[in-house]
Amino acid sequence: MGMENKNYLVVGLGKTGIETLKFLGQRGFNARGTERSPQSSFNNNEIESLTASGIEIEFGSHSDSFLEWADELIISPGVSINTPYLVKAKELNKRIISEIEFATGFINTPIIAITGSNGKTTTTTLISEILTSSGFNIFTGGNIGTPLITVVKKADEYDFIVLETSSFQLQATDNFRPYISVFLNITPNHLDHHSDFEEYFQSKTNIYKNQTSDDWAIINSGDEIIKKYSENIKSKIVSFGNTTEHENISLTGNTVEFRNEKYNLSSIKLIGGHNLDNAMCAIAAAKIAGCEKEVIERTILDFNPLPHRIEYIGKHHGVDVYNDSKSTSPGATIKALDSISPPIILLAGGKDKGTDYEILTGPLNKKVKHLVLFGEAKKRMNQQLGMSVDTTIANSLEEAVEQAFSNSNEDDSILLSPACSSFDMFSSYEERGEVFKKIVQNI
Ligand code: ADP
Repeated sequence: MGMENKNYLVVGLGKTGIETLKFLGQRGFNARGTERSPQSSFNNNEIESLTASGIEIEFGSHSDSFLEWADELIISPGVSINTPYLVKAKELNKRIISEIEFATGFINTPIIAITGSNGKTTTTTLISEILTSSGFNIFTGGNIGTPLITVVKKADEYDFIVLETSSFQLQATDNFRPYISVFLNITPNHLDHHSDFEEYFQSKTNIYKNQTSDDWAIINSGDEIIKKYSENIKSKIVSFGNTTEHENISLTGNTVEFRNEKYNLSSIKLIGGHNLDNAMCAIAAAKIAGCEKEVIERTILDFNPLPHRIEYIGKHHGVDVYNDSKSTSPGATIKALDSISPPIILLAGGKDKGTDYEILTGPLNKKVKHLVLFGEAKKRMNQQLGMSVDTTIANSLEEAVEQAFSNSNEDDSILLSPACSSFDMFSSYEERGEVFKKIVQNI
């Protein structure tokens, strides 16, 4: 069946879903949208202009009649493939694809796609800045900022598309094939969304499943799980360290070596060894894309840490304070603890995603003198961690900051690195980080 005869149902009308509907409408495709939340939470003008173009949209629930009508479902990044509606769609043999799968069907520009549990935004931004400094015209988007579908019209104008991809976006892909894929790391995350760790991991490996020997995969082979599954990769591989079977990128002290060139990263402004991993991936991707060593090195050294990622916010009452609000998984919190000198007073908690927090026990014992827990996850975190370290429970972020300061001495470090998402108390990790900074400033 040709595309013009197909019925497309967009599931989930966040920013990506709305842009997908707009695109379908502009191309004259048969399109409908279905959204679980009530219409009141949406921009009326936008919805009206979509319905005026003949697109039917339902709010408040997903109906069977829309499902029966559909030939293909295009799912927005926040929608789990395991929701009953999509399970039913699968039973009815409907094709289910994510927006990046749909959009790349219209794009010929080479894509550099980045995934991993942590470090995606930092690495995506780093690669974008290096490519831009090197004179390439690029589009950056996907899981950060702008949905991929918005670039279709102008894709040919770009030399590269640099795309941050989440497991949600990768899970429903059939043909998605980046020219360069970057797989940073994998730690348990989003287990409220995926049925188990295996499914979460498998969805991420979709980043290279359609690559061929013309393409490149950059993998962190220091990560045991990624290394184990690298046998299935058909593209040319660049991996970390000392593998004999792949081309290597290696790190000695603060010097990265790749293709007989050395990058001295001693004065890098990003904090922590994990950011050297991010930098290594960026170097390999940029070099494969055709950038010069001098530009790559200079851009990395000039790169400022992004807000809310181990962001140093100054000395307050003699204590160094760091905002790592973007840490929404224990894996990221472990990296933050690794990166900061003890003694640390750690503030953690937020929306409970069902994660196992016990992996934090070792790093807590090593570095943390006091733990302050807040938010929905505080009870479960306390059950799993409270015995290993001196712990207090707070009823708000404000109270948590007060408790952190009252348990600190001069030259200690206070670190907000929640290991949980923010949606129990805030609209985003950005809001949580901004509120934290304000509370600290006012204390
Ligand atoms: P993502 O987009 O994958 O969430 P970010 O670059 O926004 O990644 O960083 C999110 C969190 O993960 C921050 O707390 C940051 O300090 C941490 N982080 C960044 N890079 C890495 C890495 N390579 N490994 C582990 N944690 C990382």
